[in-house]
Amino acid sequence: MDNKMMGMSFNRFKTCSALFAIAFTVLVIITLTYQNSMFYLSEGFSKDKILRRRPHNVTTMDLGFRESAKNTSDMNGTSSESRFPQEELSTTATEDGAQNLTGSDEGFKKASISHIKSNGTEQLYEGLLASGFDKSSCISRFQSYLYRYRKASSPHKPSSYLISKLRNYEEIHRKCGPGTRHYNGTMKKLARFKKQSTNTTCKYLVWTPANGLGNRIISMAAAFVYALLTDRVLLVKFEDDMMGLFCEPFLNSTWLFPKDSPFWNPRGVETYQSMLAKNSSPSVLHLNLQHSKEDPEKFFHCDHSQKLVRKVPFLILLTDQYFVPSLFMIPSFNLEMTQMFPERDTVFHHVGHYLFHPSNEAWGLISRFYDAYLAKSDEKIGLQIRLFSPHSTPHEAVMDLLLSCTLQHKLLPELDTKNSVDSTQENSSLKAVLVASLFPEYGENLKTMYLRKPTITGELVGVYQPSHEGHQKFHNNMHNMKAWTEMYLLSLCDKLVTTSLSTFGYVAQGLGGLKPWLLYRLVGNRTLHPNPPCQRDFSMEPCYHIPPKHDCEGNSIKHFTSSFPYMRSCVDYSSGVKLVNVSI
Ligand code: GDP
Repeated sequence: MDNKMMGMSFNRFKTCSALFAIAFTVLVIITLTYQNSMFYLSEGFSKDKILRRRPHNVTTMDLGFRESAKNTSDMNGTSSESRFPQEELSTTATEDGAQNLTGSDEGFKKASISHIKSNGTEQLYEGLLASGFDKSSCISRFQSYLYRYRKASSPHKPSSYLISKLRNYEEIHRKCGPGTRHYNGTMKKLARFKKQSTNTTCKYLVWTPANGLGNRIISMAAAFVYALLTDRVLLVKFEDDMMGLFCEPFLNSTWLFPKDSPFWNPRGVETYQSMLAKNSSPSVLHLNLQHSKEDPEKFFHCDHSQKLVRKVPFLILLTDQYFVPSLFMIPSFNLEMTQMFPERDTVFHHVGHYLFHPSNEAWGLISRFYDAYLAKSDEKIGLQIRLFSPHSTPHEAVMDLLLSCTLQHKLLPELDTKNSVDSTQENSSLKAVLVASLFPEYGENLKTMYLRKPTITGELVGVYQPSHEGHQKFHNNMHNMKAWTEMYLLSLCDKLVTTSLSTFGYVAQGLGGLKPWLLYRLVGNRTLHPNPPCQRDFSMEPCYHIPPKHDCEGNSIKHFTSSFPYMRSCVDYSSGVKLVNVSI
């Protein structure tokens, strides 16, 4: 090719490039304009919409976790990231959502695939969950059922009424959730009229946290039930320590309360007491149902208070309590509660399965731990040991308590102290023991015990404790991630021993549908050898620690059971009440 030809080719090339650049730019402009017009025209809340319109500090769950894991530090100033046990938390899932399972789990893998594809639709958690979720952003939503119900399907089916309420709720959330036209309009209106009463199309319930993760989870579940009953949109105020633990529960929307809201740190907001005193409803109300209150928000369980609360468009709820029993007490809610939950002791079980799906990071930890240590056992026993006064409670006394409970109820086998080798080795079954505690002593002691001697039943016992954090840490994302992982793993066990009064244990028993053996609560060294050491619970529901003390006429309530036959005093806390499944 000569120079002239080369020049001509070069000129032609320049012309073509310029034309191409112009055409490309025009195409991009047309596409963007079209997308934006669709965006504003549609009422619906598409996934794109969330990503584009969410305020920059309310990130997606994945990003939220990574950000907060980087930024948080524990009380000793240690970076969470440096103590993170897994470098990369991705879960290796196939297209079908089936995970990296080992050869012996082939049946499970097949079941998993057929479950997800049953009739060409996704029947997740017996229809409890909406279909249409993206699989890769929340793998646990598609896999956890199969971990939970490996041997048989769930004995507790959600009622069709609950399912229809949930589908209806999802519509409301989609229409009114953060980023929508309704949300933005309501926020503007409320900022102007927070003390006066205002009418809005959408009403909100903002859950705000108190105490540890167990308290937070059970109170979020209660808040959601209240939102369902009152057609409110549930939003959760998550700081960095809570980001990235759960998947978004509502299809094509977010439940994260945007940080740029004028009510993120509300000031000058009306309280429940002042509302009752004035007998009129403001637009924004702060409701405190925390356990530190003597008689929290007296008459919350009464229709006359609910009439006032109903008119409040924006309710900010501070609670660490599972106040679901009080919702059954409210006459105008009772029928709906019964229709939603005909098996009354399954409220947390269903609501928990609906709301709390471990994020991919959490599910990576849970499923790998499960597959590595628990999956191949014949039986899984979960032990949760919570010390409320660790400095004055001797570990030996707690260990004695744990052993006498587990041996007495044949949850763990006795040791064969006469032999050092198991004579029935050939068909010995395997028991996996999952220990959850802030302290390493319990897992270590049990492990050593079952390694040193054979058992009289010939069973092999493997003991696994995922972490021992030493103490409860606040504002620490990774600490909460570990706690969530352990609650969830406990819920995958066949039998549970938990500690009295611990909401950490309540979450595990509720998700697992298990009635645990409750360890007697050792406080200090008061009673070192209580008898019985533990007692079986009668219900899988969490205990409501501070139920109302008065009826709606102001008389003190003495016996819950006579007024509410499906409530009983809690085994672990006699002043508390919990729901029980009785036919009335
Ligand atoms: P409760 O105080 O027992 O009712 O349970 P909470 O979950 O509300 O608060 C206790 C907190 O202490 C947990 O959320 C964890 O942060 C921490 N914690 C207590 N026990 C354990 C445990 O066994 N494992 C882990 N990882 N953390 C625990």
